[in-house]
Amino acid sequence: MHSLPAGVTFFERGWLSSNNILIQDSEQAILIDSGYWTHAEQTHALISTALHQQPLTMLINTHLHSDHCGGNAHLQAIYPALKTYIPPGHAEFVDDWNPQVLTYVPTGQHCPPFKRTASLQDGDAVVLNNQIWRIHVAPGHDPHSVVIFNESAGVLISADALWENGFGVVFPEIEGVSAFDEVESTLNIIENLNPKLVLPGHGSAFSDVSDAIDRARSRLDQFKKAPDKHASYAAKVLLKFKLLEFQRIKLVDFLMWGHATQYLKMLFEKYAEDKSFDAWFFDLCKSLEKSCACAMDDEHIININ
Ligand SMILES: [Zn+2]
Repeated sequence: MHSLPAGVTFFERGWLSSNNILIQDSEQAILIDSGYWTHAEQTHALISTALHQQPLTMLINTHLHSDHCGGNAHLQAIYPALKTYIPPGHAEFVDDWNPQVLTYVPTGQHCPPFKRTASLQDGDAVVLNNQIWRIHVAPGHDPHSVVIFNESAGVLISADALWENGFGVVFPEIEGVSAFDEVESTLNIIENLNPKLVLPGHGSAFSDVSDAIDRARSRLDQFKKAPDKHASYAAKVLLKFKLLEFQRIKLVDFLMWGHATQYLKMLFEKYAEDKSFDAWFFDLCKSLEKSCACAMDDEHIININ
């Protein structure tokens, strides 16, 4: 495995929180992504151990999904001088907090409101330890997502644009906005950057980048050929994410959450109207159970892993 550059700590988290990357030199300490809100104290505990009394000076969000910026408010309260930079697309909805546009309402998730200092632009860079970390726009999973590349070390912070096995749900597609082509162009951008090591938003760091890109492209091809496969993947991701938060919940309450979750309603209406919403929802639960992502008894659904 290609090694991390000096001053970089990679925190691989469970799937409810995105991974976090801390980049430090003697003057600055920058955190990339802050995890989900229910883990905010854990996130702070992890980074404060690595910081050794140094204050966190900057927070950068690769995108504004709840699992990437849910800890922002907590960190802003702890480090009042913290500067927070976000991708530009949703800046006005952060300033005038809008949980609908920011996807927290339609995903049935939550994110405590936070403030931003400024927006990131394509090509912006931060310099730490004499190494440049540059922002590249990377739409697809989210229209406003960015990835961050250290050219001299060949290290890419890929967020949810590229994982070792695939990439994140293509959220615009849930809303009926085509974005598979954007996923492809972002994979091309990553291939051209030619990273030696990728620090993804979820899962382990990896060095066999061309294999990962091949896997991502073949998954994308499957989704393009059969968008219903992507729809069912997206629905199961939404369910599993919420189960990670609930851990154990009565099936009737889980179903009630499902009924209130707009993205699930949209997926159901577009792809599954041949059955009832409840039947579709329970089929998804059963499919998660089959893949050992949850267990069910007569009354409850329980998260596994
Ligand atoms: Zn995401």
